[in-house]
Amino acid sequence: MEWILNCQEGKSNSRNQALKKLAWGMLFSEWEEIFRDLKQPAFRVRQVWEWLYLRKVHSFAEMTNLPAALRSQLEERVDLASWKTDDFVEAGDGVRKLLLECRDGEKIESVIIPARDRSTVCVSTQAGCGFGCIFCATGKCGFVRNLEAGEIVGQFMAAVSASQMRLTNVVFMGMGEPFANYDNVLKAIRILNDANGLAIGARRLTLSTCGVVPGIKRLSEEGLQVELSVSLHAPNDELRNELMPVNKSWPLSELMEACREYTEKTGRIITFEYTLVEGVNDSLAHAAELIDIVRPVRGRVNLIPLSPVEHYSGTTPSPEVCAKFARKLERAGVNVTLRRSKGSGVAAACGQLKLNRSKQQ
Ligand code: SAH
Ligand code: SF4
Repeated sequence: MEWILNCQEGKSNSRNQALKKLAWGMLFSEWEEIFRDLKQPAFRVRQVWEWLYLRKVHSFAEMTNLPAALRSQLEERVDLASWKTDDFVEAGDGVRKLLLECRDGEKIESVIIPARDRSTVCVSTQAGCGFGCIFCATGKCGFVRNLEAGEIVGQFMAAVSASQMRLTNVVFMGMGEPFANYDNVLKAIRILNDANGLAIGARRLTLSTCGVVPGIKRLSEEGLQVELSVSLHAPNDELRNELMPVNKSWPLSELMEACREYTEKTGRIITFEYTLVEGVNDSLAHAAELIDIVRPVRGRVNLIPLSPVEHYSGTTPSPEVCAKFARKLERAGVNVTLRRSKGSGVAAACGQLKLNRSKQQ
């Protein structure tokens, strides 16, 4: 099968809004409302959640302890259907990508990343992305539309169906900028985290932002224990403006101040993602600048050698250069990790998803 880039810009969500609610996008309280409307006892909600999230069925017909009449009433109001999935395995490291088709035909990608102590699903939050970071394949395409909460949780459920493993973690590092789709992303987090259902601990849920300051501020008020990553990739405004246009809206001083406030308010640390690009941001002088900006914030730096992408001429620095950069940070007392192999690092496997569409459809 041949995949081509699909660069549709700004397509609206309106087709989806006319459709039924997605089962996986409904909070426990929304199910309670529906069951009140249907004059059903409250314990039925718990039964439905058990079918959805413990037994993980993909149709109301399988919920055999619900009366048949109720099942058809639910079918009329709520959409519960498994996704059309094209699953492809990346060579060697067990990383699997899922290509999923939304009900309006939009295609999105998720990634399953197995590791020794955890299995992570990397989910998309938007179809495309409007932030245009120059090294990012998703950014190249522009923004198509926000994903609904049900489409975000649905990616996890599709991964569960496609995988033999117990999936323990979710990172919001696929296509899109989570804070540009804040409400749907937060709703998905609450559903994934709900103790009545999947009960994925907040600390096993990681949000990654390119530096949308209002999102960082809002998250700090939520009282959630989720992990936050901030993609830095450059230690000064001049270079960051070039690599990440978002820096023109929220320059480094503002971003780092918001990060500092976030850590103070939440007591959580922040992971700063720094993609190393040969000859661009990988010198020891860059490392020294990076040390200066991250030191005032409780956090750690995660170095990721660039995964080459078609439209960007940047290349991956040698392992020696990456190690030298890491050592410089370490010696300055900065907590640093360096992901060596492609695919084994969560961010290396995600963050480079492009919006693909089959030519044959
Ligand atoms: N929009 C969010 C989350 C999705 S991108 C963000 O930007 O943080 C997830 C991560 O992958 C980000 O840190 C992003 O900068 C990184 N990334 C994107 N393209 C990459 C590439 N070609 N090589 C390595 N990392 C990349
Ligand atoms: Fe969007 Fe993140 Fe890619 Fe930047 S790195 S274009 S914010 S998905």
